[in-house]
Formats: sequence, C-alpha cells, structure tokens
Amino acid sequence: MKTKWCVVFLLVWQSSILTAEIRAFRFSRVGVSPVYLTRIISIDRVDTDSITAYANDREWKTFLEMNIPYRILMPVKEPKGLDMTHTDLRVIQWSKYPTYPAYLALMASFEKEYPEICRIDTLGYSVRGRLILAAEISGNLKSKEEKPGFFYTAQMHGDEIATSILMLRLIDTLLTAYADSSDIWRLVEETRIWVNPLANPDGAYYSSDSTLDGCIRYNANEEDLNRNFPDARHVLNPNTLPRQPETLAMMAFAEKNQVHLSANFHAGNECVNYPWDSTPDRHPETNWFISISREYADTVRYYAPEDYFNEFNEGVTNGWDWYAIYGGRQDYMNDYHSCKEVTIEISDIKHYPAEQLEELWNYHKRSLLHFIKRVHEGLTGDFRARKQLPESIEILTPPGIVIPLEASDSLFFYTLEAGKYDICLHYASRTDTLFQVEVQPHLLTDITLIPVHTDSPPYTPRNFVLNPPYPNPFNPETAIQLYTSTSQKTSLIIYNIQGRQIKTLYEDILPAGTHTFRWDGTQDNGKEVSSGIYIISAKNSRQTVRQKTVMIR
Ligand SMILES: [Zn+2]
Repeated sequence: MKTKWCVVFLLVWQSSILTAEIRAFRFSRVGVSPVYLTRIISIDRVDTDSITAYANDREWKTFLEMNIPYRILMPVKEPKGLDMTHTDLRVIQWSKYPTYPAYLALMASFEKEYPEICRIDTLGYSVRGRLILAAEISGNLKSKEEKPGFFYTAQMHGDEIATSILMLRLIDTLLTAYADSSDIWRLVEETRIWVNPLANPDGAYYSSDSTLDGCIRYNANEEDLNRNFPDARHVLNPNTLPRQPETLAMMAFAEKNQVHLSANFHAGNECVNYPWDSTPDRHPETNWFISISREYADTVRYYAPEDYFNEFNEGVTNGWDWYAIYGGRQDYMNDYHSCKEVTIEISDIKHYPAEQLEELWNYHKRSLLHFIKRVHEGLTGDFRARKQLPESIEILTPPGIVIPLEASDSLFFYTLEAGKYDICLHYASRTDTLFQVEVQPHLLTDITLIPVHTDSPPYTPRNFVLNPPYPNPFNPETAIQLYTSTSQKTSLIIYNIQGRQIKTLYEDILPAGTHTFRWDGTQDNGKEVSSGIYIISAKNSRQTVRQKTVMIR
C-alpha cells in the first residue's frame, strides 16, 4: 500500500510541475490596441493583420474577458525531438543542443582552459535553483583596471533556444582566437566582456535537464521575464507582479558592474530592435542607435540568404513602432544604468533545427564581434587627478544627453558616434565648463585632455524642466514631459486651483533624462475630476517647477 501511494503521489506531483498552462495564440489586429493589450498578455509578434501572443493562467483569464476571437497555436510543451547531446559541443562541431549538465560543463571548461582571460560568474539562481551564469572575458582579469563594459545576454525566453548557441560559440571564439588574432586580442585586452548564454534556464530545461523539448517562454513561475523589469515611465500602470529571481539576478549584476553597451538575444523575428519599447518618444541618440543597428543587420544580411533578416526596414526597427513592451529589459538598462542596450531577434523560428546552427553562426559571427567594438567609440575621461569631480556631463548638441557621474566611476566611458559635440561639465559648487570635442572614429576621446575654451558662450544649465502638457486643454488624457539632468528623488503631483493635492503621478528616484507621464483626469481615489484648471507640480531637492493644465469634460 505504502509503495502504491508513493507512486500515485509522484505521478501527480510530476505532472503538475510539467504542465505549464501557457497558451500560444493568435488573433486579428483589426480593432484591437496592442499598446493596451501588451499590459495584459505577453505579445510575441505584431504583424500587419495579426498579433501572436502567450498567456499564463492569470493573463488568459483577463484576455478572455475582452471577448476577442482567437486561435490557439500548437501546444507550447509539445515535444519537438530536438537533437540533444551530453558531450562537449565543440567535439561534435556545434551541431546539437547541450543538455543542462553539458551546458554547465562547457561553461566550466572555458574557465578551466583559459583561466587568465575567462572567469565564470554566477549571477544568481532560477526559481528551481538552476544557475544563471556569465563568462567574464578580459585581459588581465585579476586587476581592477577600468575598461568599457560590454554585455551579451540570451534566451530569457526559454523557448528561443538557438540564441544561447550563438553566445557559447562567441565565448569559444574570443578565447581560442585570443592568442592568434591581433583583432580579438585587442578586443579582449581593452574590454570587460560578459556573455550570459542562458538567462532563463528553467524555461529552457522546463521538462527535464536532459532535453530542451517542452521548453517554454516563461520562467518556472510562469512569468515572462521580459515584462518583469522596473519600468521608469509607466508609473500609472506599475508592474505589481513580484520580481522573479532571474530578474533580480540581472538587476544585481547591472548594479554591480558598469556595462556601457549590451544586446539581448531573442527569436521570433529577424531584426535589431532599438529603444524605446515603452514610449513613442524618441531616444536623444536615436541616430546612433539606428547606425549601430544598421551595421549589425547589414553585416548579417551580406553573409545570409536574401530572405533572412529583412523584416521591417531591412532588419532594423524602433521598439515602440513594432509594438509596446512595458517592464522590458532593454528600456530598463537604458533608463536605470546608462547602458545602451538593443534587442536582437535572430530567427523567425524559435525551435531552430540543430543541423542548421552552423549556418546561423556564420550569418552572425562578424556582427557579434563588431558590435562589441562599438563600445570603443565615444568619450572617456579620468577625473581622479582633479580636485573636483563633475556631477554630470551634458552633451548640448544633440540635446538631451546627460551622463551622470558618481565618485565611484571617476574614470568614465560613454559610447557615442564619431563627430563634433558641444559639451558641458556640471559641477555642484563651481561654474560649469563648456568646450567642444571631436570624437574620432573607433576611438575613445579623453575629454580631460581637451583645453577648456575661455570664450565659451554663456550657458545657463537647465537641470530640471517641466514642459507644458500636451494636449492642453485635454480629455481624456494629457502627456507631461519632465527632464532631469541627474537621477534624484522627484515628485510629480497634480493640485487643484485651491491648492489641494489631487493626484500623485510619481514619487521616487527619477533617472536622469526625459520622462513622459500621463494624467487621465482621475484623482488618487480613482474618481474623475471635474472640468477646470489644475496645477502640475514637479519637485526635487533643489527646485520646484510648475505648469497649468485644463481639463474639459
Ligand atoms: Zn523573446
């Protein structure tokens, strides 16, 4: 009896952990708003006439309430017969997918074989206790020498499996070519490179450690990790879901290590997607983002068949223009860590056939290496010899770029396209200094070596700016743009004309940059305000700035 009960218990337990109720489905784009739906379900693709999405139980319930006709796609956990191996991928010429133990062994072997230039860091643990690893690759690893930081991460959606193979091959290439290729030697010597091949090990090895069959997009708690990061703009719709351990591991990594340029790999499309994902506003360095995305895509397209990597504008798109994502990793890294990150979608096919992995690598290998080099074009500066460290560096042309400096990173790096720039150093207790700098192609220009122009035009820094709301008067919603030159505690509050507080739109640390908030004419208690004049007041530790708006019912 006892034995029998045990068997029954095990079966029930096993089937409950194996059955993720994650639905993949498609519905017509006509008459629905992707900007709204992206808050409810995990949209994977938006095409001209249809939307493809995933949903866990909670998301599915809300979606069903909307009565949108849909079609369920093939079950996500259906075995695909993926070609797996327990042996070292290098031995079998990278033509299979590794089991989880084989993946761990391969990562460990990188450090073992190249201890001088490679260290395997554990960034954290998944829900089920699997390891989230990154290979840290750099010359003279043990020294604390400051270098530009670069990060690649892949497979945060567990079913986008070929992305991690590209990462593993890239690590292997950097390590094996280090001694022979002067190009790669220089790249490794001058950069601190981290490569995280598998950001969601539970989603990948969802059914078992020995196969990727049954892999899922979400993590083991059935959450989409690319909707789980803090979102600086959508304070009206905060992501109230608990942060997942995989997300917290990435946040801790970004907090601890200064990464200046990064890319996050996905499958489901073929393009480079640049910021922002969460707002139609354009990033002040949109031209630079288009240029690096273009470079990546064009190089892939040159070595690939004609029909590959040609979605959107020949393999390049702005995130929002494709579809909105809130709580995504890309905007989080750009907003909170001054790290320029793009998202790279490597294939329409999620479960990429193992026998074609070699071709995929050949399409991407040059772009992967060249993209890392881009971290070496821009500004640098060592302020450690100076009596006073600037609080921030502002680029005046094009406007809107503010690089906050902290005492801990007195040697700073900022990736910027080659060209001439007017620059202003802001100090806490002395006059700002202005000068012009020319960033040379493929070089980091040290701004501390440039003499300051004494005939600089007078310039009053605008550290904290609240633009007039738009539209104004408004109904039902108005957009409020707030700019801050440094990251600091900020509140954005609506008052009525009698001075009574009506609504708190924001009250937290606001990252440096321009942020758009929206007010829909509701009060903190959810009730709608009546027609009339309202005062928008933004406040930080130094200044209060105000604008008026008129609500018309
Ligand atoms: Zn994805």
